[in-house]
This record gives sequence, structure tokens and C-alpha cells, in this order.
Amino acid sequence: MTEHQLPQGFETLAIHAGQEADPQTGAVVTPIYQVSTYKQDGVGGLRGGYEYSRSANPTRTALEECLAALEGGARGLAFASGLAAEDTLLRTILKPGDHIVIPNDAYGGTFRLFAKVLIRWGVEFSVANTQNLDDVRAALRPDTRAVWVETPSNPLLGITDLAALAEVAHGAGALLVVDNTFASPYLQQPIALGADAVVHSTTKYMGGHSDVVGGALVLADAGLGEEVAYHQNAMGAVSGPFDAWLVMRGIKTLGVRMDRHSANAEKVAELLASHPKVSQVLYPGLPEHPGHDIAAKQMKAFGGMVSFRVAGGEEAAVEVCNRTQLFTLGESLGGVESLIEHPGRMTHASAAGSPLEVPADLVRVSVGIESIDDLLADLKQALG
Ligand SMILES: *Cc1c(COP(=O)(O)O)cnc(C)c1O
Repeated sequence: MTEHQLPQGFETLAIHAGQEADPQTGAVVTPIYQVSTYKQDGVGGLRGGYEYSRSANPTRTALEECLAALEGGARGLAFASGLAAEDTLLRTILKPGDHIVIPNDAYGGTFRLFAKVLIRWGVEFSVANTQNLDDVRAALRPDTRAVWVETPSNPLLGITDLAALAEVAHGAGALLVVDNTFASPYLQQPIALGADAVVHSTTKYMGGHSDVVGGALVLADAGLGEEVAYHQNAMGAVSGPFDAWLVMRGIKTLGVRMDRHSANAEKVAELLASHPKVSQVLYPGLPEHPGHDIAAKQMKAFGGMVSFRVAGGEEAAVEVCNRTQLFTLGESLGGVESLIEHPGRMTHASAAGSPLEVPADLVRVSVGIESIDDLLADLKQALG
């Protein structure tokens, strides 16, 4: 942390938290400590606490301190991917026989982790619509250990009231875990609303440039943070130093990027909402979105992700994805460049036949920060 004690705003923390100038050289950017082991001054005599880079690495430590500061948590931890972060958290807080409530709209890989991996390990799950608290209450059991939520959700952009859901989870003795990948901590701070753990795919908005795969956890409580940190080292799915450095570099501009992503996405949503070939637009910034008021209450802006349903069905939706020129057809999201995809056949193919299956006529766009007129023109020509 920096030396002076003045309170710092989000954009200041994004650039400085965990990242004071290098004490030896004065380098203003945290170096990439591309190293596995550290010289000891006599057996057990560690300099600065570092002994082996799976356990801790100075570049990763800088990122982890920054993550904790941005989410307002006690402990931040950086992983090799979002799914590695999720797996480490889940195998820290759950044991065989435990139960977890998962949302009916979520990243396909998250659902696959529960349905194909953790289930074999003896963890049971129930699927609930987290936008409806009665549905969540009905899914809770005496052995429910956690409630998992995404808001905005992937890919349907559903909005869940985090403060209300935290009350329901805590009332049942369960932890609330929030996947904050779509919003980023600049737009939404789940811990302040009652969440116990925040999950990120830092591959997305945190990294922000489609050049790194990474994941993060931020724990509200120092004790739970210590337990998860123990498992991070014991399980070993850590972020490498260069990847940590890339994520840290991305985070420095998170605020200005999210402002532009959100402004561009609002214009894209407006265009789509008035287009005859579009049957429905899913964007929490639109007043007609069922979660609009909650989103306005708990988010600073509505984010850069927009989904829409194409009149004419699956083939028409696929055609739109194939016809864009500036929006790149590809999986992932949150980079400076605009992406388009067909969730049913791409990111969410693994949810086919499950309660998390997505509509076949759905298209998802990650609205980048290119010139908005160019983005609108491309979508217009692709819709025909
Ligand atoms: C991409 C994504 C993940 C998984 O993260 P990886 O970095 O790809 O492992 C988890 N949750 C959400 C919402 C995502 O978009």
C-alpha cells in the first residue's frame, strides 16, 4: 500500500494499490518477477517472505493487493484462469455431501464445473432463478453451503438484487458467491452489498485486451481469505508472473474503458431495440429491462455486454454473426475490440439440454471501445 493515509478513489487504487515504485530501482511499474525460487539468507531466512513462486511471487502479490483494494475485500488471490479460481474456491468451501444453489443463467463453463466435475466429487447442486428470491428460498437445504450468482448474467443479462440475495443466503447459513466478471468492480462492488466471495475471469474486462487468460478471487473475510490462500498454494492453479503483470496493466485503465464500453453498449442496445429484425434486446440499461431499476441501484453504469434475439430463429441469428465485419466472430468478451457470438453453438454449447440451455435465436455482443458510428454501421449491415 502507498505510504500516505488519504482515502483513495477507485481509479487511484486501480493504478497504485499494491504497486509502489520498486524500492531498489525506482521503477514505477511493478517488474515481472519471472522467477521460481528465492535465495535464502541461511536456512529459513526469507527476504520479504518469498520462497517459491507457487506459494507467492512479487508480481502476483502486487496484483492480489490491487484486486482486494478494488473489490473492497480482505484478501485477493490471482489464478491461472477464471475456472481455476472457481475450482479452488469451491473445493475450499465445499466438501463431499455439501449442497450449493447455482443460477439458471451462467457462464457455460461454470455450469460444466458443477455438472460434470464437482458432482463426481460428491457436491450436489440445485438450479434456481436468482432473480426470484422465492425460487432461491425453495432451493435452499439445511446442508446448503453457498449460493452462486452472476449479475449481469451470461448470456441473458439477467439482474439479481445482490443485497437482497445476500440476506437470503446468510439467513440460511450459506455464503454468497458473486461472479462479477460482467460488471467489473468499477461498475459493481458485491462485497459492499453483502457478498462473501467475488469471482472474476480476469481474461475479460480486468485484463481488457484479449491477450491473457486469468482468474481472481476476492474474499470479504480475512479468515476465509487465509483458507482459500492455503488451497491456492496446495492446489497450485496460480497466475504466472507475466499473466499477473498483463492483468495489472489492464486494470490501470479499467475505469475509462468501462465508461466507454457502457456508453457504446447503450447506443448499440438502442439501435437493436428499434430494428425490425430484432425480436428482443437484453440489456439492463434499457428502461423496459425487468432488472433495470435494480441495476440502476447497484451498478454505476450498465456495462458493455448486449444480447439480442433475432427474428427468424437460429439460422438467422447465425447469419448475423457470420456477416459482421468489425465485430469479430469469437468467444470471450471484455476486450477493447468488439466481439460477436452465437451462445447456443459457441460459449454455451455445454449447457445444451440442461436448465441453463440458451435460446437458439440468441446473439451476444461484447461492445468494444471503437468509434460508435462504425459499430452501429456494422450491426446495421449485418442485420440487413
Ligand atoms: C469467461 C468466464 C468465466 C471463466 O473464466 P476463464 O478465464 O475462461 O476460465 C467465468 N465466468 C464468466 C462470467 C465468464 O465470462
